Amino acid sequence: MTPRLKDRDRTDLIVVHCSATGPKSDIGKREITQWHLKRGFVTIGYHYVIRRDGSIETGRRESEIGAHVAGHNSNSVGVCMVGGVDAQGKPADNFTTAQYETLKVLLGQLKARYESARIVGHRDLSPDLNGDGKITPNEFIKACPSFDVASWLKKNSL
Ligand SMILES: [Zn+2]
Repeated sequence: MTPRLKDRDRTDLIVVHCSATGPKSDIGKREITQWHLKRGFVTIGYHYVIRRDGSIETGRRESEIGAHVAGHNSNSVGVCMVGGVDAQGKPADNFTTAQYETLKVLLGQLKARYESARIVGHRDLSPDLNGDGKITPNEFIKACPSFDVASWLKKNSL
């Protein structure tokens, strides 16, 4: 049922996303696959989905090229945390403890498999508009994944 897609040649980035759904929305791979099919993708664009209860669902096979981040799909793995906006649809770091625990384990495993890969949030791949070598919040073209991945990694020794 899931089509076999082309494998990546390299993995330089592990990109953390959110589904931009509210905290009470218990969605997962099935719903995201439907959204992505409507957008014309062959299937879900992410490799992993972490549901509100911390359970993990596999989207594309980990070796395959994903569809989750403009300009970086051919060399990255995409992980989607379900949640990330409040009831008004504004970006919010409202992920559950269980989700963060799963994220920590998953990123630890990915880091072990792709030793040279950098773990980033989707928004950290926004263009560096003022050319200072840093991507600052005023340059974010989107809020995804609604939390600061770099400081979270540091806090979790990843
Ligand atoms: Zn994203």
